Amino acid sequence: MSFLQEKDPEVFGIIERELERQNNGIEMIASENFTLPAVMEAMGSVFTNKYAEGYPQKRYYGGCDNADDIEQLAIDRAKELFNCEYVNVQPHSGSSANAAVYSAILKAGDKMLGMDLSHGGHLTHGAKVSFSGQNYHSFHYGVELDGRINYDRVLDIAKIVKPAVIVCGASAYSREIDFAKFREIANEVGALLMADIAHIAGLVVAGEHPHPFPHCDIVTTTTHKTLGGPRGGLIMTNDEELSKKINKAIFPGMQGGPLVHVIAAKAVGFRHNLQPEWKEYAKQVKANARVMGEVLVERGYDIVSGGTDNHLVLVSFLDKEFSGKDADLALGNAGITVNKNTVPGEKRSPFVTSGIRVGSAALTSRGMKEDEFRLIANRIADVLDDINNSEKQAEIKAELQELAKKFVIYNQPTY
Ligand SMILES: *Cc1c(COP(=O)(O)O)cnc(C)c1O
Repeated sequence: MSFLQEKDPEVFGIIERELERQNNGIEMIASENFTLPAVMEAMGSVFTNKYAEGYPQKRYYGGCDNADDIEQLAIDRAKELFNCEYVNVQPHSGSSANAAVYSAILKAGDKMLGMDLSHGGHLTHGAKVSFSGQNYHSFHYGVELDGRINYDRVLDIAKIVKPAVIVCGASAYSREIDFAKFREIANEVGALLMADIAHIAGLVVAGEHPHPFPHCDIVTTTTHKTLGGPRGGLIMTNDEELSKKINKAIFPGMQGGPLVHVIAAKAVGFRHNLQPEWKEYAKQVKANARVMGEVLVERGYDIVSGGTDNHLVLVSFLDKEFSGKDADLALGNAGITVNKNTVPGEKRSPFVTSGIRVGSAALTSRGMKEDEFRLIANRIADVLDDINNSEKQAEIKAELQELAKKFVIYNQPTY
């Protein structure tokens, strides 16, 4: 019996049910992944007890020798992994990493240019409902009707806006991001260039997506999406002055004590990312997404930009009677978890949408390959073809649960 089971059966029971859900479901939310038991073990360690405000060798509390060692190890591994000079491993999340960068380089009301949320950008790229669009004067570029960024158009907008920073990177964009082109644009208008690679970091470190360095001044990411580590954020740069400003913006600017247990788990994740097998994983993530896109196209569905270069596909229902919300619900009933998503040329509200975003990273971590993705993509099409058929959805759910059982991810709820 675990400590948790004995001490708090109620919480244990809910966590057990979540384990069941994760083991039995077909998880295709593009921002999710399954991290290693070793990462979860580090996250559940005694470091959760430690206050370590400050940075290694520069702490505001005693007893930080081991916290120093673990944070320095995480920093060193991240530097090796991303091939850069300065890293801050303390951001609690991707959003707080971005907030810290903005507060390091912008004053309130300064101009920023990022990708439109409804075109695939993130809330923190200047959306008006986010601190980023409220504290700063934000402007946006988007994709063309073909679903791709048109870099000439971004340049035209940048010339008019003259932003202090350009943010590139996205949450729902299935094509490669051309960091070199963004660098040219930033140079032409005298802006700093920040890349937010939250979604694609796992591919970047494997050489399966172009690298933001040396083109970008600052790079932020999450550690829990394609990177497959614990939930958290990361900031990188090769500029010493910028790194000092960023460190100050994180602490004491925005955060108090770092989550030392999560930093320990980040270090474990980075070590995993540095192994040769990681390259195989990243290749498989892309191959699986590609197969999924091909099957959906064969079955008559419209994929934004016609395909994918990364871990996700955006399926558009602009020409369909049903919405992204309908598809999300129907697929959920069939045991397939995705999210509704706006698509270029969107005509429905952000709560309804005309698309879904489907990702391959999580199922690839379970060991699924092209054959499984071909089957699942066909079942997705089966559900969409007959979207009100709840009997069929139940049948597919049962079939896919049998498939999931062959790819057990965790055999206990806590580590
Ligand atoms: C997910 C994401 C974030 C935010 O990460 P959180 O950890 O959820 O705060 C930031 N930027 C992009 C591009 C993302 O996709």
